[in-house]
Amino acid sequence: MTSESKGTLRVLQLYPKDMNIYGDWGNALVLQQRIKWHGYTPELLEYNVGDEFPDDVDLIVGGGGQDSGQVVIQEDLQARAAQLRALAEDGAPMLVICGLYQLFGKFFKTSAGPVIPGIGILDVETQGTDERLIGNVTLKSPEFGEILGYENHSGQTTLGPGVEPLGTVTKGAGNNSKDGHEGARYRNVVASYLHGSLLPKNPAIADFLIKTAAERKFGEFVPGKPDDGYARLAREHAARRPR
Ligand code: GLN
Repeated sequence: MTSESKGTLRVLQLYPKDMNIYGDWGNALVLQQRIKWHGYTPELLEYNVGDEFPDDVDLIVGGGGQDSGQVVIQEDLQARAAQLRALAEDGAPMLVICGLYQLFGKFFKTSAGPVIPGIGILDVETQGTDERLIGNVTLKSPEFGEILGYENHSGQTTLGPGVEPLGTVTKGAGNNSKDGHEGARYRNVVASYLHGSLLPKNPAIADFLIKTAAERKFGEFVPGKPDDGYARLAREHAARRPR
């Protein structure tokens, strides 16, 4: 017997053509499946350079990309900055990974020289370096417990006072090679360097995003019964991997 949907949640993937590496698209797929398991109806939308921006979006995800992909989207992203900022300030849940994490900050000064301006939703700055931070990462987050993933970036990010770190690294580098912080938190925006994809192994973050989207849209979130079997297996496997 199928029960009635508790409502539709619209998930928008930002720039999947140019910003979608190391399986970041998997984050949107996990959200789609978990939204169903919670008894809601998911709608997956894509936004690429030049598209019309949908105005009734409940949850936003964005992936990582090469410096060249970040250059391709930079102008279009600036044109969308006010809209995205307004959504973030209004409490819309967002997950941005690596390249889009950097561009949700103030700027990314690439190692090749050019500065790619960010949209300043997050009080962070990123400096390109000759050092590439690559490998498996584990961090401890006060909100989500242990987070597992994989990083590959040359940009090193420093947090300003307007954001909190997502967590403290216990394996790997995270935001930079110095301070032991990984990712950033501001309102309902979760930013992280972790690919892998992130959400299949970290369903607590997926459920936070879905819960926040439902509460914002319907005034409440009524959870369903997600099947966490594969997430548990993926976590066990990832936890065993060396740096
Ligand atoms: N191009 C950026 C960097 O190297 C982001 C990389 C990524 O998204 N994995 O820092």
